Amino acid sequence: MTEKESVSTSTNPLKNNHVVVIIGGGPAGSSCAIKLKKLALQKGIKPRIIVYEGKRFEKKSYYNQCLGVLSPPLNKIMEEELETPFPWHIIQKRINGYYVYSDKNSLKLSGEHEPSYACRRVEFDNYLFEKAKEMGVEVIPARVTDIDFSTDGVMVFSESNNIKADAVIGAFGLDDGIAKIFERLTPYRQPKFLSSIVTKIHPGHKAMAEFGDYLHAFLPSSLPDVEFGAITPKGNHLSLNVAGKKVNAEMMDKFLNLPRVREALPDNLDAFLPCLYYFKGKFPTLPARGAYGDRYVMIGDAAGLNRPFKGKGINSAIITGIRAAENIVNHGISEDAFKKYLKSCSELTEDIPYGKTLRYLTITASKYGLLDSIFETAKKEKALRRAFFNIVSGQETYKKTWQETKNFKLFSRLVFKAIASKF
Ligand SMILES: Cc1cc2nc3c(=O)[nH]c(=O)nc-3n(C[C@H](O)[C@H](O)[C@H](O)COP(=O)(O)OP(=O)(O)OC[C@H]3O[C@@H](n4cnc5c(N)ncnc54)[C@H](O)[C@@H]3O)c2cc1C
Repeated sequence: MTEKESVSTSTNPLKNNHVVVIIGGGPAGSSCAIKLKKLALQKGIKPRIIVYEGKRFEKKSYYNQCLGVLSPPLNKIMEEELETPFPWHIIQKRINGYYVYSDKNSLKLSGEHEPSYACRRVEFDNYLFEKAKEMGVEVIPARVTDIDFSTDGVMVFSESNNIKADAVIGAFGLDDGIAKIFERLTPYRQPKFLSSIVTKIHPGHKAMAEFGDYLHAFLPSSLPDVEFGAITPKGNHLSLNVAGKKVNAEMMDKFLNLPRVREALPDNLDAFLPCLYYFKGKFPTLPARGAYGDRYVMIGDAAGLNRPFKGKGINSAIITGIRAAENIVNHGISEDAFKKYLKSCSELTEDIPYGKTLRYLTITASKYGLLDSIFETAKKEKALRRAFFNIVSGQETYKKTWQETKNFKLFSRLVFKAIASKF
């Protein structure tokens, strides 16, 4: 094939003989595969859709740091856009509201919105992956070890085999190994991220019942490297996590000993402390650079199109997976075609500046110990409480909340007034 021919292949929509390789079968990769299959069927074409996945989801034995909170409108996205039933059968807990804690104050947030749902993340991954297989997506249970771009395709090397593809979709999350390979070969640069330490305790049925169905979120100024911490109730246990740019296991130890965290946790906590296992994970906080080019596109965490604050990463992974599939089927696999993919993700990208501003304001307020008084105001002001609910739950876009209520202006005024009063 000549270079001219190859370019024309890549700018056309997906065809019968095309081979698309998806690297990673998490929520982004599986939903992209499902959507590609469904759209190809509607068009009457039969491209090969191949997913490489290193983990054996069906064993459900590996640990995923993700807390497994499925936030609205994920059920609508799955049912309406992915045409795949929401997995109600794996839900362990309905999260009905939130407690947010500053150093000396707390705010209860509940009521007006749809609940979120907690599940075991391994079960969610397995569910979507099986749905992709049912659609006829080919699955190769191996890690991709390298790729080579040429004028007429992309050679994908793995622990098991190698395949020449027309395009590759990067759905590998924040995996450093494969990200480095793309960074070597393309302008792709992994997104900036926050680290997170996660652990869990099984305090027993009685303590779980007493803990209830609220997620507890902490913004502690006494731990400067911890941006936030959380306790999430699951079926038979509590998941705990702390997040920050430089967070480490020692900070989780300190978090567990904060008086407000102790108060929220069951009385029998000390019995579990010596045998806690810690895991480390990462959240993207900004979009990746070079997230697409000729014959490649990034989706999910690899694209970093998450909300910079309260990520709702599973939702973003599925939305970007769906948008990339629509783009490939309708416009093709060239760099020009993928520009439309990024535009079609505007519901995520347009929210990023608002989320960034809000994150900055919250970190600043926490750092200067101003949240105590802001929470006190929020107890009296319904609109400010609603804004906090949206910040913590991530249920409304930051842009919409800003435009609808104008209370972020109130929030920022509060912060800056409080900062000024300190000097
Ligand atoms: C501590 C923590 C808690 C979180 N809690 C929540 C939450 O409650 N709710 C929520 O919505 N989001 C949460 N997130 C975010 C969420 O986990 C991610 O946004 C989401 O998993 C992104 O999906 P993905 O498909 O892009 O990537 P991933 O889920 O990371 O999937 C990537 C897949 O690619 C595979 N892979 C990687 N490299 C290769 C390779 N070379 N070859 C083959 N396969 C490969 C991996 O095995 C993996 O299965 C949390 C994140 C963290 C760190």
